[in-house]
Amino acid sequence: MNQFMVSKTRIAPTPSGFLHLGNIFSFSLTAGLANELGASILLRIDDLDTTRVRTAYLEDIFETLHFMGIPWDEGPLNTVDFNENWTQLKRLSVYEENLKIIEESDLVFACNCSRKVLNETNTFIYPGTCIKKNLPLDAPGVCWRWKHKLSEEIKMNDLATGETLHMRPALQHHFVVRKRDGIPSYQLASVLDDSLFNVNMIVRGADLCESTLIQLQIAQKLQLKTFDKTVFFHHPLISDENGQKLSKSAGSTSISYLRKEGLKSETIFELISAELHLKTKVKNWYDLYQQWKKENSPLFFPNNSKKSN
Ligand SMILES: [Zn+2]
Repeated sequence: MNQFMVSKTRIAPTPSGFLHLGNIFSFSLTAGLANELGASILLRIDDLDTTRVRTAYLEDIFETLHFMGIPWDEGPLNTVDFNENWTQLKRLSVYEENLKIIEESDLVFACNCSRKVLNETNTFIYPGTCIKKNLPLDAPGVCWRWKHKLSEEIKMNDLATGETLHMRPALQHHFVVRKRDGIPSYQLASVLDDSLFNVNMIVRGADLCESTLIQLQIAQKLQLKTFDKTVFFHHPLISDENGQKLSKSAGSTSISYLRKEGLKSETIFELISAELHLKTKVKNWYDLYQQWKKENSPLFFPNNSKKSN
């Protein structure tokens, strides 16, 4: 799996909920891969959606990373440092510049569909209602949506399988690029940030695979060269007893809850091992990565396994 040269990865939590077991699993894989491949780790906190961000959640990120021993090399040291130097609000001019390029390149159309109208379509697929309306992009209260259909096949550098072609995400035509309030969408801000910080390996849950494909399309149109070469690893998610992915509101799986219950970080790593059905219980991120990889190779790291033919 060392066919890709990677130098920097990132952990990118959003302070809109308490970090949970699933986040720690993801961060452990990120730290493990960074360690194995010689990449540094950037802590990048996505706080652009100010309606969902809470100070308590921001504090929780630092407390939990320290408590669980998750390392990072670059990025904010604490909430004060974050607010002074690293908040996404500091990069609004970068987002604005790129929104300007997007506007001038005729990549978007304005949409004034209300939430009610969108909900009535009873599907997550935007039906393209506003394309023909030709609303001005600077009209009040409109969002900007991606004009073109996504490419049929999108090339992704996959850490596990090498360069692979993915079918376009069916549900994501005309995704939102700029929200009603003028703030860039997660998809745009995320890809711009990763590019700006020269991140070239992204480890994220399989639920974000569609986001990856969308972001690759944005990067291509904006000619963000570094993102083109970024290597991705999409890992399976830890699910709850009902088979649902863990949510940020799930109190009993949040690290902050478990910590207040008196659990040590070692015990929480043992819990994660149990959730993942690992044969050996581990006590830290390093062992979690090693053990998970051992049990999941060659499924996720086929290049590392011996060929049987
Ligand atoms: Zn619309």
